[in-house]
Amino acid sequence: MIRLVLFDIDGTLIRTKGIGGRSFGATFRTVFGQEHKPETVNFAGRTDSSLLREFFQHYQIAHNQENLDKFIEAYVFWLEHLMHDFGGHVCAGVTELIEDFKALPDRPIMGILTGNLRIGAEIKLRHHGIWEHFEFGVFADDHEDRNQLAAIAKERAGQMIGRKLKGEDILIIGDTPRDIDCARYIGAKILAVATGGHTMEELREHNPTWLVESLVGVRAGDLNA
Ligand SMILES: [Mg+2]
Repeated sequence: MIRLVLFDIDGTLIRTKGIGGRSFGATFRTVFGQEHKPETVNFAGRTDSSLLREFFQHYQIAHNQENLDKFIEAYVFWLEHLMHDFGGHVCAGVTELIEDFKALPDRPIMGILTGNLRIGAEIKLRHHGIWEHFEFGVFADDHEDRNQLAAIAKERAGQMIGRKLKGEDILIIGDTPRDIDCARYIGAKILAVATGGHTMEELREHNPTWLVESLVGVRAGDLNA
């Protein structure tokens, strides 16, 4: 039985108009005076902390606390500002599936597993009114490597429940091959959904436990077997 459900954010819970890349770009322009070309970096499935490392390296900016603090302050400003125009929408079927999980007799813990920084995740999900659905999350602040984020989530949820979780107790829902890989890394089940940047065919190659075009009509009970 599923004891923990972990949702990815971008392309899974919400679909934005490239808000992460836009905010990164605006921050690097205003704080570090660097004109960033969005096409040079692929954001999908990456953690913001690994992206930051790459950006700092690329623009030869020292990767130290002072610059990280500068980045975060401006990034939060830009994200809040740009969400208004480029925030996009909650993906179809998301709210119904969350409610469906919550209605299960022995409801699982609802969590977030995302490459977003915590503050970015909160801004995005609060904007769309779905932040409060989740009891905890693992974020880019916790680790740069998504596989390790999954391992941390497994550990933390186990502490919340008071017993060690097995991989099969956990369901990850995500839209990229990286989500599938991190589920496999901890032995979790994975529901891959093609509402992000990847097609059904691309996702199928990575052998997810379940694969759907969208979350519309997906029932928690069918995933709980
Ligand atoms: Mg995603």
